[in-house]
Amino acid sequence: LEPKEEFEHSSLTVDVMRPKRSDPALAVLTQEGMTVGQVEALVESTHYSGFPVVVSQESQRLVGFVLRRDLLISIDNARKRQEGVVSASQVVFTEHAPSVAADAPPPLRLRGIMDLSPFTVTDHTPMDITVDIFRKLGLRQCLVTHNGRLLGIITKKDILKHMAQIANRDPDSILFN
Ligand code: ADP
Repeated sequence: LEPKEEFEHSSLTVDVMRPKRSDPALAVLTQEGMTVGQVEALVESTHYSGFPVVVSQESQRLVGFVLRRDLLISIDNARKRQEGVVSASQVVFTEHAPSVAADAPPPLRLRGIMDLSPFTVTDHTPMDITVDIFRKLGLRQCLVTHNGRLLGIITKKDILKHMAQIANRDPDSILFN
């Protein structure tokens, strides 16, 4: 994002983030309770570069962010090297090991690959401020929250696409919006 590209527009982050209203929900992982098989299915059914980790689907409290690449490499390594890690193993991002039944496969602990403090902005942050944060911190993506709950994600590409749309818009439509 070049500093010369000014962003003189009154959009809010909620207007630019994903998912848009008609999109499928944000693809998130829960900090515990998902199996290796479920995580693999989620990752492979999308092309996203990363996934927010939340406390639970109900709470949508943000715990961290994991990159697709790191997830795939770790699961692959664990399947090859770690005794007993199978599709039914539980994936955990929590600090403490979960209590699993004696006959359950061992859990796969992935806290180590999670970014514990991903950058966030709120849905009502004006876009010029969000763009400034991306520029100054050199971000590729940023999570969006509403009242402390995870609401969406915004990437550098989302911002560039939005800027291009504004630049191409019929000037009359901007004046009378
Ligand atoms: P990029 O925008 O650089 O292509 P991604 O491939 O990660 O980065 O994201 C593609 C699109 O999907 C973007 O519009 C982004 O906002 C959205 N997106 C990214 N991660 C997720 C996710 N976990 N769940 C839902 N949408 C996502």
